[in-house]
Amino acid sequence: MYDSRSRKAEEFICHEEILETLDYAEKNKDDLELINGILDKAEDCKGLGYRDAMVVLACEDPEVQQRIFALAREIKEKFYSNRIVMFAPLYLSNYCINGCTYCPYHGKNKNIRRKKLSQDEIREEVIALQDMGHKRLAIEAGEHPTLNPIEYILESIKTIYSIHHKNGDIRRVNVNIAATTVENYKKLKDAGIGTYILFQETYHKEDYEKLHPSGPKSDYAYHTEAMDRAMEAGIDDVGCGVLFGLENYKYDFVGLLMHAQHLEDTFGCGPHTISVPRIRPADDIDVEEFDNAVPDDVFKRIVAVLRIAVPYTGMIMSTRESKKTREECLALGISQISGGSRTSVGGYVEEEKEEDNSAQFDVSDKRTLGEVVSWLIDLGYVPSFCTACYREGRTGDRFMSLVKSGQIANICQPNALMTLKEYLEDYADGETKKKGEKLIEERVAMIPNEKVKDIVMEHLNELDRGARDFRL
Ligand code: SF4
Ligand code: SF4
Repeated sequence: MYDSRSRKAEEFICHEEILETLDYAEKNKDDLELINGILDKAEDCKGLGYRDAMVVLACEDPEVQQRIFALAREIKEKFYSNRIVMFAPLYLSNYCINGCTYCPYHGKNKNIRRKKLSQDEIREEVIALQDMGHKRLAIEAGEHPTLNPIEYILESIKTIYSIHHKNGDIRRVNVNIAATTVENYKKLKDAGIGTYILFQETYHKEDYEKLHPSGPKSDYAYHTEAMDRAMEAGIDDVGCGVLFGLENYKYDFVGLLMHAQHLEDTFGCGPHTISVPRIRPADDIDVEEFDNAVPDDVFKRIVAVLRIAVPYTGMIMSTRESKKTREECLALGISQISGGSRTSVGGYVEEEKEEDNSAQFDVSDKRTLGEVVSWLIDLGYVPSFCTACYREGRTGDRFMSLVKSGQIANICQPNALMTLKEYLEDYADGETKKKGEKLIEERVAMIPNEKVKDIVMEHLNELDRGARDFRL
């Protein structure tokens, strides 16, 4: 029985309810009156339930699709202005005891070079990331009770926060590690993490179990209930996601929205972010094996309908996707992207050698962070290195109420401009600096609140004089 408030995975992600939803969407996908009515409702920016969202996604009418794209753009602009938050993944260790069939780090893969970073090596990686201009990291590690225990993760977070190379600073460490206990989540919270990220991969239990034949991750309920434990431990900001292409995307789309609904109903706060990875080639992984590939046009619709369905949630896209797809999806709702990413352990100091096969997936967008920043500016976006909210205690429902009232854009935009200025001063080439300064000038002039504008202008002058790290 479906119960969004239940603490049991199989009740808050209810298989029968998902199947009924898919059936309902299939039957009603050509009912344009119904669908336009749902979209009228969505214009209030209060989101959509999974059933309405699914019927909108299933509709193939070209005019409806244009309406969806336009609305997604409008909602994104309203809540997050035109800033795009930048981050980079940092792989700590690829030792893993799980058997995930779609990931080259699975325990039985003998082809890859296994590596775990020492604290000194982490220091070097972080310096390399700081020298690129990054301020926000997502750390990643396989699951291994003796090689990657929680103590190792905690020590690594401490090391990362302690490094200040030249003007460099990592100000927010998000954590993407295996599902764990409430006690361990409390330790992560105390270590000052930003978001706890855990991808569900697929919500389809039977297929989940086939895709995870061994290791602790094979326990569907333990994995699916992880966000509940994280929130119980006081981590307000959690990041969900599925690996599109593993399972029927429609099933996972509904599952993802059900999960968001569950967190909102149970903890008063939905996911802070949703990531939209699509399966990519990697060592020992034959993507042909996964015959649920999501074509580009469907993928764009997924991004746009998610934007409409959960307007308050940040949406993340990684370098798995090409420059072209990223550009299209930025306009449809993506609010955070990675740049200059290396998906191998130690990859920022030493680029992965082909024979090591140690990247978790192929990167499609191989541009440097500088190139990505320059490209975003050309597209009219403000690349943002902001980490202000969690440092100001704006997390969980405090954060959500700011987003829901539409006030967050008034904070995001000034912070984006100040952190971009910092980036331009310390890391940009001459041309990027010139066009970035111009963009800042134009955008400062558009800040509606005169007091905020004065504060930003004052801080921009201070940044010129060498001061750093301003935030609202
Ligand atoms: Fe290990 Fe994560 Fe890869 Fe699974 S997806 S094999 S848990 S690193
Ligand atoms: Fe993110 Fe808050 Fe900064 Fe906006 S102000 S970019 S929501 S940290």
